Amino acid sequence: MLATPLEAADYTRLSTPEEMAGYLAHLAARTPGAELWPLGHSAGGRALTALRVPARDARVPPLRVLLVGSQHGASEAAGGEALLWLARELTALAADDVRASLEFVIFPDANPDGRALDSARNADEVNINRDFVLLTQPESRALDTLLREFTPEVVLDAHESASLKQKSLAREGYMTAFETQFDCANNPGIPAALRRYAEHELLPVLLARVAAAGVAAQRYVREILSLSQVATHGGLGARKFRNRAGLSGALAFLLETPMDPKHGRYPSYRNIAVRVARQLQAQRVFIATVAERRVAVQRLLAAHRMSVEPLILSACYGERAPGALLHLPMRRIADGEVQTLAFADHRRVVDGAAIPLPASYWVTAHQAGMARLLEQHGFPYEVLRAAAVRHGRVAGQSPGGEPRTMTVPAGSLHVPVRGPRARLLALLLEAGSSSSVFGYPTFARLLSAAGEGFVLADVAQMPSGLGDSRWLEA
Ligand SMILES: [Zn+2]
Repeated sequence: MLATPLEAADYTRLSTPEEMAGYLAHLAARTPGAELWPLGHSAGGRALTALRVPARDARVPPLRVLLVGSQHGASEAAGGEALLWLARELTALAADDVRASLEFVIFPDANPDGRALDSARNADEVNINRDFVLLTQPESRALDTLLREFTPEVVLDAHESASLKQKSLAREGYMTAFETQFDCANNPGIPAALRRYAEHELLPVLLARVAAAGVAAQRYVREILSLSQVATHGGLGARKFRNRAGLSGALAFLLETPMDPKHGRYPSYRNIAVRVARQLQAQRVFIATVAERRVAVQRLLAAHRMSVEPLILSACYGERAPGALLHLPMRRIADGEVQTLAFADHRRVVDGAAIPLPASYWVTAHQAGMARLLEQHGFPYEVLRAAAVRHGRVAGQSPGGEPRTMTVPAGSLHVPVRGPRARLLALLLEAGSSSSVFGYPTFARLLSAAGEGFVLADVAQMPSGLGDSRWLEA
């Protein structure tokens, strides 16, 4: 059996980015049909490399599964390390294994700079997992390339969380005592049927299966930094990879396992052997669960991922019920005792305004910068050659407002809203969305300079007498 880099180093240090990529190359070389997927280079110039493994069972349409590890570098190293074990197992499957009907892309070292520099960030000091609205970093663009080109149906994003938070919770005398946590993509723009299935069908099975193996498992609760904070699930915005994946047409999940204090005494480096075992157990449960539900997942996605239901632009967390409490295990640092403490339960998602999904958008100013943005995100557009009269509304100025007839100047960009990423496009372009590019200074500046929004949502309800001929030549 080909030893993983951690096994080869006898768990005395973390694997380097070069060792991880080299291991993937070994697996690719000995697995029929498997190949490396080069994804460019990190901000610090390190190679970004994934492994693609075809389904062994050729009789059925494979379920496409994307597995991502260590977006947070050396700070959360175990997810990526465990994915090397998983890759070894998956490349050695017998053709009659239920998991053989899955096609895999495994990207275990999504932030090689962070791994090499002992950081959670990349070489430009950016947290990759906050960059999925603008895609400013090569690492986030690499992950988006996998979403667009592999078009996964299922995604797992593997993280860890420090149980001892020196600068926050530890000052109040406690550390967290969570074991395995899973969350699902929860952006309100994701079609409701997909969110429901992930939350009410898959998540409970994942948690029950991990628990059956003797490990406490719960739905992810956002990082506890203070005993007086409220409890919510994971972030709702598209800046997180999990939600970008969900808005790209996949059922996407977060896995998080606890990480032991860095400077404790352990049999392996930073207790990495135990951390990898925790990750690997949960990753195996995940693969087994989606493999068994392959047909149901494929039917669900075929029916709903192109949904044109109204698009919810924003959401926030609210109190579950007046005075509702969530009880969580917390470890007292002084004596190591685990206690159950109560937090205000704010795990209810409160939806904001919704809009009908427009047929297309018109970008009527700042075309060069906006064209770059669209290209970066892989959204096709065309340039209008002559002015046209269209029926639309200014995107985000008044989400519920009445559309009106307006002139679209020549040189405007026409951006069709279609395909499995239609809803993502709308969330990025609508100024009223909580995942809008206009929520970031670079683009917010354009809005205020214009005085009014310059992106028009075309509602495609042509008033009588206005044919399409005036703009079709574009
Ligand atoms: Zn993380």
